[in-house]
Amino acid sequence: MNILLLGSGGRESAFAWKISQSTKCGQLFIAPGNAGTGRYGTNVNLKVTDFEGIKAFALANDIKMVLVGPEEPLVKGIHDFFLADEQLKNIPVIGPQQEAAQLEGSKDFSKRFMERHNIPTAASQTFTRDTLQDGFTYLATAGLPVVLKADGLAAGKGVLICTTLEEAQQELTEMLTQAKFGDASSKVVIEQFLQGIELSVFVMTDGNSYKILPEAKDYKRIGEGDTGLNTGGMGSVSPVPFAEGDFMQKVEERIIIPTVEGLKQEGIPYKGFIFIGLMNCDGDPYTIEYNCRMGDPETESVMSRIESDFVDLLLGVAEGNLIEKQLEISNLTAATVVCVAGGYPGEYLKNKVISGIENVRDSHVFHAGTSLDGEDVITTGGRVLAITSLQNNMFEALQHATADASRIYYDGVYFRKDIGFDLI
Ligand code: ATP
Repeated sequence: MNILLLGSGGRESAFAWKISQSTKCGQLFIAPGNAGTGRYGTNVNLKVTDFEGIKAFALANDIKMVLVGPEEPLVKGIHDFFLADEQLKNIPVIGPQQEAAQLEGSKDFSKRFMERHNIPTAASQTFTRDTLQDGFTYLATAGLPVVLKADGLAAGKGVLICTTLEEAQQELTEMLTQAKFGDASSKVVIEQFLQGIELSVFVMTDGNSYKILPEAKDYKRIGEGDTGLNTGGMGSVSPVPFAEGDFMQKVEERIIIPTVEGLKQEGIPYKGFIFIGLMNCDGDPYTIEYNCRMGDPETESVMSRIESDFVDLLLGVAEGNLIEKQLEISNLTAATVVCVAGGYPGEYLKNKVISGIENVRDSHVFHAGTSLDGEDVITTGGRVLAITSLQNNMFEALQHATADASRIYYDGVYFRKDIGFDLI
């Protein structure tokens, strides 16, 4: 079976690595891929939002399944595009249709969905330019700090945690009346601040049944000790010690089951991954957000712990018989350390030659923002490489991933040396 994987990051490298191990996979194509994905399949020079180009490629290459890595093509309706096309409609797309992708694409949609299904989440209300004054009234009674969220996708920048009422009023005004985050902030969700530890939970569903993938914790800030600006993610670990047993049972009962059942009840088909970002508040889980795809760099750690044939699981999603599939999870611990470009997450250095990948000893190197320049591998993105180590325990996994990250060199290379140490 030929498979087309859309995306170019570390997440897609991890998918490609896992898919390439399956006996069910014929040819694997990655569009557009990166300098590392060529090891697992064939890179194809296509943008993930070029639906017509993807159609032509799928038909010409006998593609039997499309796995969508990032959210953008899902929110723009790639799954609906396939279903509406006579020639494509029988090619399964792993990733939800546009309506369900709203769980990620609109924070207002996802909050109202959670309310309808009694899924624990922070109290919130949504405001527009026309209801700015009501927003001020709401802010006056909400406690501090308070969270303001642009409704639409804003590349992780649309969430502001305000510590004073004046700051919150100012930001709300800028978001609603001055398009601070463009169209994304034409609606703003004002939300109660939750105090706790974050966790990423991943569910695979065919719309009826579900499988819970290994949970992970990611590290978003650029600086050690979780300081500085937010990034796409500087590292991840799986499993997460506080999530074992009782806590995950609460997550399944209070969040996962009502989410899958809620989608069903509302007649919203869903075939793909549901990524639940949640907060552990004194042992109780609260949903912060849904994403309609896997996380990055969590996928690198999560895929490393999946022992079953991943393509078989994807087929379960596509064919609606996920319930019959086996999901074996390794007891080992995976840790991922991300090497980023100098200057990231601000303006960052590009086109720097990478060396030392061959010196990595006890980890897998997943490429993210890399390209080939003749014989050289060069940096082209902010997050350059994800170094993942699978070991007997958290300490060893972190130690090896961190030591291996330090064996990589390019001008401006930076990585956090403290990923996961808060959990030891
Ligand atoms: P974008 O849509 O801009 O890409 P996002 O999807 O990353 O943003 P969220 O995941 O909702 O947005 O929020 C980003 C981060 O803000 C969370 O990972 C969490 O650290 C923090 N956060 C969000 N909501 C809350 C809350 N209610 N209480 C405390 N922290 C929160």
